[in-house]
Amino acid sequence: MTTLPFLLRRLRELRIVDDAREQALVRDGVLTVADLDLALAERRTSADVPELRRAAAALAGEQRPLMLGRAWDIVETFLPTLAGLCPDVEVFEASGPMRRSEPLVSGLVIVGRAADPARAIDCIARAPLASDVMHHGPRRIVLLVDGQEMDIRITTPDAYGSVLFVTTGPAQHVADVLKRRGPRVCASEADVYTHAGLACLPPETRDAADALERAEHAQVPRLVGREDIRGDLHMHTTYSDGREPLKRMAHGAQALGYEYIAITDHSEHAGASRTLTPALLGRQRAEIAQLRRDLPRLAILHGMEVDILPDGSLDCPDETLASLDIVLASLHESSGQDGAQLTRRCIAAIRHPLVSVITHPANQVVGRRAGYDMDYDAIYAAAAETGTALEVDGAPAHLDLSGERAQAAVRAGVTLVIDSDCHRLRALDRQMRMGVGTARRGWVEPRHVLNCRPLRDVRAFVARKRATASLG
Ligand SMILES: [Zn+2]
Ligand SMILES: [Zn+2]
Repeated sequence: MTTLPFLLRRLRELRIVDDAREQALVRDGVLTVADLDLALAERRTSADVPELRRAAAALAGEQRPLMLGRAWDIVETFLPTLAGLCPDVEVFEASGPMRRSEPLVSGLVIVGRAADPARAIDCIARAPLASDVMHHGPRRIVLLVDGQEMDIRITTPDAYGSVLFVTTGPAQHVADVLKRRGPRVCASEADVYTHAGLACLPPETRDAADALERAEHAQVPRLVGREDIRGDLHMHTTYSDGREPLKRMAHGAQALGYEYIAITDHSEHAGASRTLTPALLGRQRAEIAQLRRDLPRLAILHGMEVDILPDGSLDCPDETLASLDIVLASLHESSGQDGAQLTRRCIAAIRHPLVSVITHPANQVVGRRAGYDMDYDAIYAAAAETGTALEVDGAPAHLDLSGERAQAAVRAGVTLVIDSDCHRLRALDRQMRMGVGTARRGWVEPRHVLNCRPLRDVRAFVARKRATASLG
């Protein structure tokens, strides 16, 4: 062992632990900040609790969290290699905040299942993947991978559910559930909840304020899953700031089994590195027509993600927008406006008959900017009234609407769409999964989501709003 895990190293530097107390923490399985949070939530550490409580508060802020997309980058590169090297391990799964689809991830946690955990751990320790081994126990190893601490637990099948549950977190939820049941080990997470007298909660909902209450009253609906998504209505190509040509994106979408997609590059005056001029839009239209012949099983909608200008008008003539299959609109920049002005600007776009979807409505930038300070209730009401969908955008920088806002929107009667907003082919599926994970944090069900429905319903949704406007 060459380095200590971050937690123990910092506790030493802060002179909160000495050798004896460090050994006590290791014996209690307290190796990471997440372990410390859980130990404190359960009040079980052999060391001095008030000091550790202060340390936990300080160290949580010190640990630089990763964006969810970056965390998946590391884990999805690492796991297949690990699985290849250690065939004894039946399953490897990402746990911790990643499994809960938190936009910012502090602590990479992997859980695996094997008949002989110690042997599997030895195998992982020998793997030439990590730059450092920070802890090596019989059922747990902490590695440094790509500059990040990765906490890997291997358990026997009979205890897999318990380990998965505890490592998934969040700490307070784990402590609350464990308080309710006897000291049993469970093979599945469902068993953990059953023994606690609760309905099983999907990982993404365990941060929700009403999670435990819903589990007590068995009010846990079937949430939207990746398999419910029939198409992706928001993606970019080299016609604007996407990295991949349209043709590759379309082929990639068909390979994912989508029934339909919308190609939605940026409007002419958007801040993106490249945007759709009228000439480019014409070329794109012709290319899509050709692709429809080449890919008869995939419906390709020609769309655009049009900027909402500071006065609430759209960055494209109505005549052009009307010639498209679907129009998405977005507030990409605040232009220095305050919340009230931004709300009016957003609602003006919602009231435009050709706008079917508002993309990343809050325009949050994960880790840098919370969503705009707008009157969201007014936005939800206008969207519901006009038949305009609000998006849950799966791009790692957006993840917007957030779960909480998606839940509020659904309560107000809004139809959601879940999109990848993908700019590169290899993230097409992953960003959709992150969008789905974000929606699940807000208890979103398939019936709330437009792109869980067949193409004819999507077309009807667009047509209905366009028709109402022409009548009015
Ligand atoms: Zn956008
Ligand atoms: Zn976009």
